[in-house]
Amino acid sequence: MEQTMAKYEVIIIGGGPAGLTAGLYTSRAGLKSLLVERGPFGGQMVNTTLVENYPGFPDGITGSELGSLMHRQAVRYGLEVVMSEVTGIAKGQIYTVSTTEGGVEASAVIVAAGSEYRKLKVTGEERFSGRGVSYCATCDGFFFRDREVAVVGGGDTAITDALELAQHARKVTVIHRRDELRAQKALQERAFAHPKLGFVWDTVIEEILGEGTVEGLKLRNVKTDKQSSLKVDGLFVAIGLLPNSQCFSEVLELDDTGCIVTEETMATSADGIFAAGDIRSNSPCQIAAAVGDGATAAMSAFKYLQYTSK
Ligand code: NAP
Repeated sequence: MEQTMAKYEVIIIGGGPAGLTAGLYTSRAGLKSLLVERGPFGGQMVNTTLVENYPGFPDGITGSELGSLMHRQAVRYGLEVVMSEVTGIAKGQIYTVSTTEGGVEASAVIVAAGSEYRKLKVTGEERFSGRGVSYCATCDGFFFRDREVAVVGGGDTAITDALELAQHARKVTVIHRRDELRAQKALQERAFAHPKLGFVWDTVIEEILGEGTVEGLKLRNVKTDKQSSLKVDGLFVAIGLLPNSQCFSEVLELDDTGCIVTEETMATSADGIFAAGDIRSNSPCQIAAAVGDGATAAMSAFKYLQYTSK
């Protein structure tokens, strides 16, 4: 016997700031809405100790606290939530979103699935993952009290991580493949002035060395080709994010970085599917921007449903 699938007006994929804002708006507008999330509420921001640039919190707020406040506010207006992983979207008369818990149907879908950590792809990375190699300073920094660690990357995450790690570690070395950072000027100034932080420029990591845990790094200067080694107890990889868009590639147009192409309204290449937050093309990857995207996507989904009377 065929099972009837639960049916919603809107399904939101992802419980970060974009998805939770979309859910707040759609449920508050009276649309029957379901949000599907596979991890903790808040998405990538749960890995941030202190969020200092989200308006309304003059003393900052932890990423996980902000995530749980956003979740509380959205469910208060009737947003339903299911913990599951989305595996695809199929179009029939309406959309079917398949998840590890089964299928759910909706007339409109908002994809706010965010991104995950980009891997360095060097020898030793996989072997030492969780044994000295980490992607989250907030989660693992504490384990490196009085030890020497390296951070690879030159963006906001790398410098935020380096500053955070300096609260625990004896020494933090930032290894960057160019001779200037991409991070915001304010973070750069703080990092350059920090007595525990050092920089190795124009350098890439060729191998992560060790026996049971990380003991050092094999480095290469990209300008001189000279190889060297650096003794460290841990490596924090902070080289950017990859969009979680693989399972949407057959239904939605993606750009060459794998992000979903959207219009100003957050409409995607498929009628009735909207995208919001880090997963959309040219996102500035900021919490405040993701919140704005989520609100826009929800309002566009509302108009779409009214217009198509679905
Ligand atoms: P990002 O801005 O993309 O920076 C990635 C860094 O890693 C770049 O410096 C890049 O080098 C380097 N890199 C990339 N691939 C590499 C490889 N294979 N080997 C070595 N180095 C590599 O990523 P992010 O720092 O994670 O930031 C992502 C987004 O989140 C950004 O928009 C950022 O502004 C935002 N963010 C904001 C805050 C905040 O506002 N407080 C905090 C964290 C993140 P190149 O510079 O040479 O390309």
